[in-house]
Amino acid sequence: MSNPLQTPSEADSGETYVRTDDALTPEQLAEAREYGRLELRCSLADKMLDVAFLAVMAFAFAVPLDRWLAGFFESATLRVAALYGVTTLVHMAISFPLSYYSGFALEHRYEMSRETFGHWLWRYCKRNGLALAFGLVLVLALYWIIWLTGSWWWVAAAAGFFVVTVVLGQLAPVLIVPLFYKVERLDNPELSERMARLAEGTGLSIQGVYRLGLSEETTKANAMLAGIGGTRRVLMGDTLLDRFTPDEIEVIFAHEIGHHVHHHIRKMILAGLIYSAAGFWLCSVILLSWAQSHFGPLSAHDMPPATLPLLMLVLTVFSLLLEPLQNVISRRYERQCDRYALDRTGLRDAYVSAFQKLARLNKDDPDPHPLEVFLFHSHPPIRERLAMADE
Ligand SMILES: [Zn+2]
Repeated sequence: MSNPLQTPSEADSGETYVRTDDALTPEQLAEAREYGRLELRCSLADKMLDVAFLAVMAFAFAVPLDRWLAGFFESATLRVAALYGVTTLVHMAISFPLSYYSGFALEHRYEMSRETFGHWLWRYCKRNGLALAFGLVLVLALYWIIWLTGSWWWVAAAAGFFVVTVVLGQLAPVLIVPLFYKVERLDNPELSERMARLAEGTGLSIQGVYRLGLSEETTKANAMLAGIGGTRRVLMGDTLLDRFTPDEIEVIFAHEIGHHVHHHIRKMILAGLIYSAAGFWLCSVILLSWAQSHFGPLSAHDMPPATLPLLMLVLTVFSLLLEPLQNVISRRYERQCDRYALDRTGLRDAYVSAFQKLARLNKDDPDPHPLEVFLFHSHPPIRERLAMADE
């Protein structure tokens, strides 16, 4: 994959950007493979820990814990809140060593992180605190829906989940992303002009290109399309803007426009409606039969708070099983956008060097095992994406 080309890219800005050898050396390739293997092991361990912990909570601790809580609170709402708090906090405590290893130690070992431990810990607390608070609101709303609507609760819950996804999709880039990263309007007239030209006729406002301060956390380069309607925007990592040539940035920006043009966010939200209806239906069946076997005949209107850990378990297992399907769709979308970027820009060389650079910077194994790709990867392997340039 060595690429000794030293041709200047066709920069129409008048500046000349020299393309260096961006392909991975054998050492870099070996390192990327090793890093990928360790990352995969962490993610598998994390998934197994989630399922094992929730199973123990659901089948061994939920009923006695709820009985003990009932001594303090009569209100079922407060017991759901307390059960959620205990389950989530104990889970965070148990998985902390793994979070530390995969989020901090591993990233430092491979020189991908610039964070101090204090900074990492602060972000970890912020992320988990937000997840805890938001999860609590969702869980309480869900149990109220169950108690009020009875056996068809899963339909109401899926509808509610859809509304939450749309609102969150709108708010995420303006409220949530800035909590974790510095977001500034892109201040580069030359790049802005190129992007404006690419965005022309696609309905994406060029006002919506932002510089995302990833470098505070990582050396990895990334870009994304986020938001719905008025908050729709392209977020380009500063790691990418500072290290990629204008041609390469143009190709990556065109890829993000591809997501906009092909309505990928809208399609994913609609698919989410179907997944959530299926997941909640499964919960409605399993929760009721489990509750009846423990507490005698009852209806969903009296769903006991002790079912909460089981609900979390069923949803976790369901989303794990669904992941390969979602990844198949996501990889299809990514290929569509790669094709769009190539056709729209015509910058084949920049496309190739951009992906080689991404593989090198992000230590991405260009050619992971097909089973690993099938099960866990939301993006096609770099080798496959590079091959698209030759089609
Ligand atoms: Zn993409």
